[in-house]
Amino acid sequence: MVTFKGLLIIISGPSGVGKSSVRKTLMEKHPQLNLVYSISMTTREPRVHEVEGEDYFFVTEQLFDSCLKAGNFLEHATFVGHKYGTPKQNVDKLREAGKNVILEIEVEGADQVMQACKGDKGLLTIFLMPPSFAKLEERIRGRRSEADDVIKERLTKARNEMELTNKYMYTVINETIEQAADEIANIISKKLRNR
Ligand code: 5GP
Repeated sequence: MVTFKGLLIIISGPSGVGKSSVRKTLMEKHPQLNLVYSISMTTREPRVHEVEGEDYFFVTEQLFDSCLKAGNFLEHATFVGHKYGTPKQNVDKLREAGKNVILEIEVEGADQVMQACKGDKGLLTIFLMPPSFAKLEERIRGRRSEADDVIKERLTKARNEMELTNKYMYTVINETIEQAADEIANIISKKLRNR
């Protein structure tokens, strides 16, 4: 097992829990943590506010499948009909350069990373929980970007995902974005001190 200088930080949790908002606040408020976000590839269509190469690399099924075949993903999953994957080479390069890399991914992909990185002392896994299921539903419905059947599928998935917290080193409840970001910053600082 290669020893990387930087950490590999998984932030997982149900879709709609606020992973992106928490991650953005965490990175803005805590530049001393030397964090960098691993941009995933997806076959999903961009939402209105999303930026290519910042939020995701939006790709065709064909391109995604050829990357998968070439073994370019650290992990990948299909989520509500679309494919998502983490480009492996980027992650390794960033960690080699001493950056602490954040993966913001769903539970199936997180599981694959946990398996692949067994014995990797730089791995840190965090599960972000909503304060309640009602709050999560409010958030997912509030996005207004998806059809009702897709929303229902995301909610059903979320219920199952929320039962997997015990696989993670830490669980953080997203009461507010600031509080969750600060809690995660403390967890990362502690890990950096104790390496
Ligand atoms: P969304 O369509 O809401 O952006 O993402 C759907 C779910 O896929 C979210 O839980 C999100 O965190 C997750 N996701 C985003 N990128 C990746 C990835 O590269 N791999 C995996 N496994 N999940 C991802």
